[in-house]
Amino acid sequence: MRAKERAQLAVERLKAVYPAISELDHANPFQMLVATILSAQTTDRSVNAVTPRLFARYPDAAALAHADPLAVEAIIKPTGFFHTKARTIIAASAALVERFHGEVPPRLDDLVTLPGVGRKTANVVLGVAFGVPGFAVDTHVIRLTRRLGLTTSSDPVKIEAGVTRMIPPADWTGFSLRLILHGRRVCLARVPKCPQCVMNDFCPSSTVRAARGRRPLTATGTRVRLSHARGSTAKRSGRSRARR
Ligand code: SF4
Repeated sequence: MRAKERAQLAVERLKAVYPAISELDHANPFQMLVATILSAQTTDRSVNAVTPRLFARYPDAAALAHADPLAVEAIIKPTGFFHTKARTIIAASAALVERFHGEVPPRLDDLVTLPGVGRKTANVVLGVAFGVPGFAVDTHVIRLTRRLGLTTSSDPVKIEAGVTRMIPPADWTGFSLRLILHGRRVCLARVPKCPQCVMNDFCPSSTVRAARGRRPLTATGTRVRLSHARGSTAKRSGRSRARR
């Protein structure tokens, strides 16, 4: 099977198991941008624990741009690297006010000019908050695309370019979000749970690859729980739940 065929099969298999969602709680693009910056080197759960208080005190870019860094640090401390993160979200907010009328721009070329925003963060914000196709490459996506034989590279830019050539733009955001969910729940970094994986019949790294002619596992038989994601859907914008 060629890499392009594996990519298209992976898209379909993961669609049957996971919704195309980010697990970061947010109500608008500004909140999604800030939450994504805060999610570096920590879990979405720890970000979701601090953002309600942060956004209650600083509801938009104008408010956060003029915040006292020490006050922001006190709120976001549980997310780690709080000294740097506080200054980054304040600087990004100031840039939004100065150059984009306080609004998050819906273009990748503009987003990556903001402090603390690289292609990964920009693609997440584009896809989740604006519904603009974007293939975000984080540590899970790097690991899974390599294990699935979609790339041999570890360079996020090359992986993004390669995968987006294999699947249509309408699948870019959903595939990235679902790979992240699958990487957190099944295709774990240390020991992947191949027996529970819906792609174990064609994944080149599968430890339980089905013998030729055997039927692949069904999505129903391997569905995983998304209790946290479902429980917090009310806090998210409608676009983030768009299923592709
Ligand atoms: S079969 Fe195993 S290595 Fe391949 S994607 Fe699934 S869990 Fe990961």
